[in-house]
Amino acid sequence: MTDGDGFDLLADETRASILRELATARRESPRDSAVPFSTLRDRVGVADSGRFNYHLGELTGHLVVETDDGYRLSPVGQQAASSILAGAYSDPPDRGPVELDETCGRCGDPLEAVYEDGVLRVGCGDDRAFGEAVPPGVLADASLREATRVLDATLRTDLSAARRDTCPACLGGVDWRFETHIPTDVPMEAAYVAVCQSCGRQLTLNPGLFVFDHPAVVAAYHDAGVDVREQPVWAIDCCLPGAGTLVSADPPRVDVAAGPDGGCEFRLDGTGDVVDGPGRNG
Ligand SMILES: [Zn+2]
Ligand SMILES: [Zn+2]
Repeated sequence: MTDGDGFDLLADETRASILRELATARRESPRDSAVPFSTLRDRVGVADSGRFNYHLGELTGHLVVETDDGYRLSPVGQQAASSILAGAYSDPPDRGPVELDETCGRCGDPLEAVYEDGVLRVGCGDDRAFGEAVPPGVLADASLREATRVLDATLRTDLSAARRDTCPACLGGVDWRFETHIPTDVPMEAAYVAVCQSCGRQLTLNPGLFVFDHPAVVAAYHDAGVDVREQPVWAIDCCLPGAGTLVSADPPRVDVAAGPDGGCEFRLDGTGDVVDGPGRNG
């Protein structure tokens, strides 16, 4: 291992190829993925055995494990290989915008998806509120419309990690900030900002994102014939920016109406916890 960080380890194309080939071997035979030295060298295509040995040695221990049968990825190496294969370190090509089937729950305009600078965004014309970095590999095999499924999945994963005080990027702990009157495209009276204490990543959550999957809301949608789990978050009204009314700044209190026709009313505190909401039967 070098003194550098993990990025140095992957900076070299030979090392990236080694991880890529070991990931391919794992995909081809998940139960027996170890690749002998000479086979691996052939697959990576490096004729110079000494040079190949050097780069493999740099990876071995942390990212690559050596066994009696050859070399395979460690769990950490698998993660790095996943990022490489998804194209996370390559130049993303811009795409879109394309119109989606859903309309904006606030202004009624058609929603659009656009991919710019490696970020996939969904929203109406002047407010593309839902966005997340998506590796170019996702868009190599999918249309922009199809890729919005990935965006929805990523947003839900981020949300669920953040609500458990965990950074979705590095798994570090997050601290929460309660903010009022945020001057975004659509003004937000109140929002919750999760800040990772390790990598500094920030996620801004509007109040509805704490309750859109509350059992009472899921049940109300179910009664109305809608499986809310099948709806992308941008099609759920209470998830839109601007949802939520600041009732009091001190102590922080925010009202948000969720469910079909906003029939499920919640009051949240400064940490997004429900202090008042629908009872078990209502
Ligand atoms: Zn709109
Ligand atoms: Zn982090």
